[in-house]
Amino acid sequence: MAILDHKHEIRLKGSPICGGIAIGSPFLFNFFENEIPEFSISDSEVESEVLRYRKALEKSKKEVEYLQKQLDLDGALDGVMILETHIQIMKDELITTVLEEAIREKKKNAEYIFGLFIRDYEKKLAKLTGEMFREKIRDVQDIAARILKNLKKTVKLSLAEVKENAIVFATDLAPSDAAEAKRTHIGAFVTEMGGKTSHAAIVARSRGIPYVSNINLAQVELKKEDVVIIDGRSGEVIVNPTSATLLSYRDLQNQLRAYLDNLSQAGEFLTETPDSYKVRLSANIEAIDELQLVHKYRGDGIGLFRSEYICLDKKGFPTEEEQFEIYKQFVQAANGLPIVIRTFDVGGDKSGDFLNVAEANPFLGCRAIRYMLQNPTVFRVQLRAILRASVFGQVKVMFPMVSGAFELLEAKKLLQEEMSKLDQESIRYDKNIKIGCMIEIPSAAITCDEFAKHCDFLSIGTNDLVQYSLAVDRSNQMMSYLYNPADPSVIRLIKMVVIEANRNGIPVSVCGEIAADPRFTALLLGLGVHELSCTARFIPIVKNTIRRTSIISACQLAETILKMSSYKEIQQKLNEEYEKLIPQDVQHIGPLIGH
Ligand code: PEP
Ligand code: MG
Repeated sequence: MAILDHKHEIRLKGSPICGGIAIGSPFLFNFFENEIPEFSISDSEVESEVLRYRKALEKSKKEVEYLQKQLDLDGALDGVMILETHIQIMKDELITTVLEEAIREKKKNAEYIFGLFIRDYEKKLAKLTGEMFREKIRDVQDIAARILKNLKKTVKLSLAEVKENAIVFATDLAPSDAAEAKRTHIGAFVTEMGGKTSHAAIVARSRGIPYVSNINLAQVELKKEDVVIIDGRSGEVIVNPTSATLLSYRDLQNQLRAYLDNLSQAGEFLTETPDSYKVRLSANIEAIDELQLVHKYRGDGIGLFRSEYICLDKKGFPTEEEQFEIYKQFVQAANGLPIVIRTFDVGGDKSGDFLNVAEANPFLGCRAIRYMLQNPTVFRVQLRAILRASVFGQVKVMFPMVSGAFELLEAKKLLQEEMSKLDQESIRYDKNIKIGCMIEIPSAAITCDEFAKHCDFLSIGTNDLVQYSLAVDRSNQMMSYLYNPADPSVIRLIKMVVIEANRNGIPVSVCGEIAADPRFTALLLGLGVHELSCTARFIPIVKNTIRRTSIISACQLAETILKMSSYKEIQQKLNEEYEKLIPQDVQHIGPLIGH
């Protein structure tokens, strides 16, 4: 990368989502307001690209026909005539068959070819004089904008193949986009929208990709050759830094790497407090390659496998056979460690081609267990596949977003029925498979004694528990000032669940993002949580924190915090206590997860 000494660097301040520092050049992803993207397509993609174009054209035609009908009803006959011209242009063989042939021949994306055609068309018309032709140019531009808009909505760029150290700028990121991103290629993410516990943020964290959101992209004009620094700790984005800034960030980046390498050695130590209180530290995973880190850091198991990630890039749900093969591979790669397979938590911010649901309030709608109970065929297929994979290791099954014990009972009934069918077919499975429930809705937390009677373990999903307790969308960065896991209501709900789980003699873990935040570690232990499940990458920092925290002081801290009445007070106390634990010489490196 050429280093130019820029006299005037541009500094933008956003919200830190995932810590770390990245230095690279911008890659503009899914935002080409004024730009038409150009990319090549393979032979096998040609026909689907033609189809994508045909659909966008068809949609545009339908939109114009609808408008025409409205104008007709209003008696605006001039408008009806103009739109008739638009419809006729959209039927012109130049932008139908001839354009499709050009996509096949040039093997480029539809909007690029379309852009070439339109420019050509405009040039030809511009040579002709007269008001009629000028009108025609305006018609063509109008239609072109409509078709391009409809094409852009369907374009699917992939983050899997961007060049090394790319700093991905996007208005928003879907969990599937983030899941496609490879740490080796992507330097960082910068978005306009996206909250700390959005699923895209969780995936970025599991990949160790620095991430800053809440940046107004209109504030800065980015060029491919620009140098950009992303500081995921503070939320700063620096475009074209001066050489002094660049050098200081390179230095900081090296120190951060050294600190993380040092922390990683924690894999060799036991997860216990200095007063010998043992804690189970497991991992949340979305992809099979994350299991390597679980083993490297000696995680105690997989506390949450977000199985829906196997669907996100698909057109439909995988078949029983496909799912069985996938789960078997995960279970085998877990190599004897227990693995909690959570049934599909689809809906919310995890939707896509595989899910045919469009709702005004997806987080309050047909999500997770609700979707599965409403679509029992999909549910039964997954349960069978999980059961069949259970003979290859220590598999547990867990249901997400259960709001009342009746849903748990319905899910268990389906599981039982699939077990009976497997028995009849003489197919092997673990007959004692453990069944768990996520506690992530206040109604479930409040009635968790009912849940505890009917399942083998509970896992508190604080990402959603915070969202549903405080009525604040977890992926909406504009509302993040209200999204506070340190809120007294959340802390008290956690305590309530722990008490009920203990009373019923079943284990309870915490698997939301606070399990990865070292500032919460002592509090969770003090509240009586014996198992934490966090992104594998954060096992070392959480383990180090556990190894520095005595259980007696953790209990005292929990007692103090349970008496506090505001999140600000609680947050401040947690920060103060954590700062006492971090060695002085690394305090300038900042909190590792960028909160
Ligand atoms: C949670 O809600 O805390 C959780 C772990 O589940 P997810 O983040 O996948 O919704
Ligand atoms: Mg959840």
